[in-house]
Amino acid sequence: MVTVAHTLENLHTERRTFKPPVSLAAHANATAYEYKKAGVDRLEYWREAALRLAWHEPFTEILDWSDAPVSRWFHDGTLNACDNAVDRHVREGRGDRVAFHFVGEPGDTETLTYADMHERVQKAANGLLSLGVGKGDRVAIYLPQIPEAVVAMLACARIGAIHSVVFGGFSAESLRQRIDDAEAKLVITADGGNRRGSHLALKPLVDEALASHGEGTAHPEPCASVEHVLVVRRTGQDTAWTEGRDRWWHDVVDPQTAAHEPEWVDAEHPLFILYTSGTTGTPKGLFHSTGGYLVGAAHTHRIVFDLKPETDVYWCTADVGWITGHSYIVYGPMTNGATQVLYEGTPNTPHEGRWWEIVQEYGVTILYTAPTAIRTFMKWGEAIPDRFDLSSLRLLGSVGEPINPEAWMWYRRVIGGDRCPIVDTWWQTETGSIMISPLPGVTATKPGSAMTPVPGVAIDVVDDAGRPVPNGEGGYLVITEPWPSMLRGIWGNRHRYVSTYWNHFDGLYFAGDGAKKDVDGDLWLLGRVDDVMNVSGHRLTTTEIEHALVAHPWVAEAAVVGANDEVTGQAVVAFVIVRGDVAGIPDDGEAVAGELRKHVRKQIGPVATPRTIMVVSEVPKTRSGKIMRRLLRDVAENRPVGDVTTLADSSVMDAIRGGLEAGK
Ligand code: ATP
Ligand code: MG
Repeated sequence: MVTVAHTLENLHTERRTFKPPVSLAAHANATAYEYKKAGVDRLEYWREAALRLAWHEPFTEILDWSDAPVSRWFHDGTLNACDNAVDRHVREGRGDRVAFHFVGEPGDTETLTYADMHERVQKAANGLLSLGVGKGDRVAIYLPQIPEAVVAMLACARIGAIHSVVFGGFSAESLRQRIDDAEAKLVITADGGNRRGSHLALKPLVDEALASHGEGTAHPEPCASVEHVLVVRRTGQDTAWTEGRDRWWHDVVDPQTAAHEPEWVDAEHPLFILYTSGTTGTPKGLFHSTGGYLVGAAHTHRIVFDLKPETDVYWCTADVGWITGHSYIVYGPMTNGATQVLYEGTPNTPHEGRWWEIVQEYGVTILYTAPTAIRTFMKWGEAIPDRFDLSSLRLLGSVGEPINPEAWMWYRRVIGGDRCPIVDTWWQTETGSIMISPLPGVTATKPGSAMTPVPGVAIDVVDDAGRPVPNGEGGYLVITEPWPSMLRGIWGNRHRYVSTYWNHFDGLYFAGDGAKKDVDGDLWLLGRVDDVMNVSGHRLTTTEIEHALVAHPWVAEAAVVGANDEVTGQAVVAFVIVRGDVAGIPDDGEAVAGELRKHVRKQIGPVATPRTIMVVSEVPKTRSGKIMRRLLRDVAENRPVGDVTTLADSSVMDAIRGGLEAGK
C-alpha cells in the first residue's frame, strides 16, 4: 500500500480556456453524443467500436470479467491485426493511399503505399515462417525507426507470433533480459541506425546480448532460446557474423512470394509484450491482446485525433519501441488507414529546425509529441520554428508527462499558430490506449489539464480509503471499470499483475499516478504518487511546483523532488533549465535561484518555496523522454542512484552530482 496523503493539496489554479475551433467541431468524428451513448450503455458503446474492425468470425460476447482482474473482450471472435492494418485497405480499394512518408536521418526518403506495405508484410511473414517461427512464438525486435520495424511487427501479428519490441537505444544487457523474459526464438535487428549524424551499431549489441558473459556473471551461458538473428542492412557498416544463426533480411525476406493468408487468431491471442519505461523502478513486461487492444487503439485514434484518412497527414514522433509507437503509429493509425510521417532521427540533426522542416515539406496536419520535446524547443527558442511554414497543422497532441501550462501555451501559440486545439492524452503502457483526453471538436480545453475520460472509460480520483474525492481535491487516479485495451497481465507472472495494480483498492485499477479534480470536475495529472512530498505536514506534488517554475519567463524545464530535511520533514529541491532565447537571465545561479524562489512563493505560497534551486543544463530522462525524479531524489539525499538501465544519458547524473557538491 502506498502511503501518501489523505488527499493531495491543490496548489495551481488555471482560468484560461480554449473552445474547439468552429470549423473542426462542425465536421468532427466525435460529438458530444459520444459521451451520451457511452453513458447509457458502456458495453454497447464498445461493441459498436469493435464492429468497425474487420472480423474473420464475429464475436457474440462483449466482455467476460469472470476471471477478474484478467478480462476477456470479444473473445469468441477471430481476426488478425495485420489484416486490419494493411490487407483491408487494399481489399477495399485504398491500396494507392500513402501509408508512410519515411524520412531517414541522413535525408534519404521513401514513400510506401498500403499496397507496398501489403507486399512487404506478406513477404516478411513468409520469411519468418521459413525460419521456423510460428503462432505463439516470441520475436524480439531491436531496430531503428525505419519501415522494416513496422513491417516486422505486422509480420509477427500476421502469423500469430508475439513481438517484443526493444527500443534501439537500449543496452545489450537490457536486450538480453527482455529476450530471456519472453524466451524469444528470433531477434530482428539491423547492422545499425543513424543517430546524430553518425552510425549507431546495433548488431554488435545483439551479439553481446546473446553471448555467454563467462563464469560468475549474470549470464554464464549463451542465450538458449534464440535460434536466428535476422539482420536488416541499414547503414552498411561491417558486421560480425555467426554462420547458421545470422541471416540477412534481404536474403530471407526479399525472395519470398508476396502471398500469405493471415493466421486468424482468437481476440484474446496475445499480440505483443512490451516493457514500461522504468520511470518508477524496474520495467514491467506487460502483454496485450489482439482484439480488445486493436479496438481501443483504433477507436481512440479516430475520435481523439479526429483523423480524416483521405486528407490528413499524421505524425506521431514517438519511437515504435514505446507503447505510443505501438498504438499510435502502428496499430491505431494503420487500422484507420492514415497517411503518416515516420522519421528515423533526432530533432536537431542536422539542425534544430528539422521537425518543422518535415512538417512544412509533407504538409503535416496532426502532430503528436511529448512535453519533453516541447520544452526542448522552448529552450532552443521560437525563432527556429518561426522560420518554417506550419500552417498545414490543424491539431496537436501531447503524451508522456503532465504538460506544464506554459509549455502548453507555447505549443499552442508557436507551433499551433493559436488556431490548433491541443489534446493532452493521459494513458500508460498498461492501458494500451488513451484513457483521458479532450475530444477536439467537443471539449473546451484548459492549459495543463487532460480534462475528462474518453467515452467508454470510467475513471475516478479517490482518497486513501478508496472513496471518491470531491471536486477541488486531489488523490489517487483509478480506473473503475474494465476497458478493451487493458493489459492482460505481466508476462508469466499473474501474481505480480494482481499485486501491482489491483491490491491497493478493492476492485479498482490503480495507475500509480496522483490527480486532482478541479472545481468543474476536470482532471489534472499530478505525476507519480511515489513523487509526492510531505513538507511541514503539507502533501505537495512535484508537478504543480514544476508548473509554477516553468511559468517564469526564464525557465524552459524544471524537475522538482522532495529531499529529507531535519526541520520540515521534506524540503523542495528544484533543478531548472533556463531558456536560450530570453535576454537578461543572470549568469549567477544564486541570482536565478533567488528570483525563482520569490516567484514560486508568489504563485503558490510559502510552503512550496524550494529550499534549493540548481540551474543545470540537462535533467536525467528515460529514453522515452520522461524526467526520472527518483534519481534526482537519490542525488538530493546523497544516496547511490538506483536502476539507471533506461536512462538516456548517464553522464547527466555525474554533472548534477558534481554541481551539487561544488555548491555545498
Ligand atoms: P514505469 O511504470 O516502469 O515506472 P512509466 O510509467 O514511465 O514506467 P509508461 O507506461 O511509458 O511507463 O508511462 C505511463 C506514465 O506516463 C503514466 O503513468 C503517467 O505518469 C505518465 N503520463 C503519460 N501521459 C501523461 C499525460 N498526458 N499527463 C500526465 N502524465 C502522463
Ligand atoms: Mg508506469
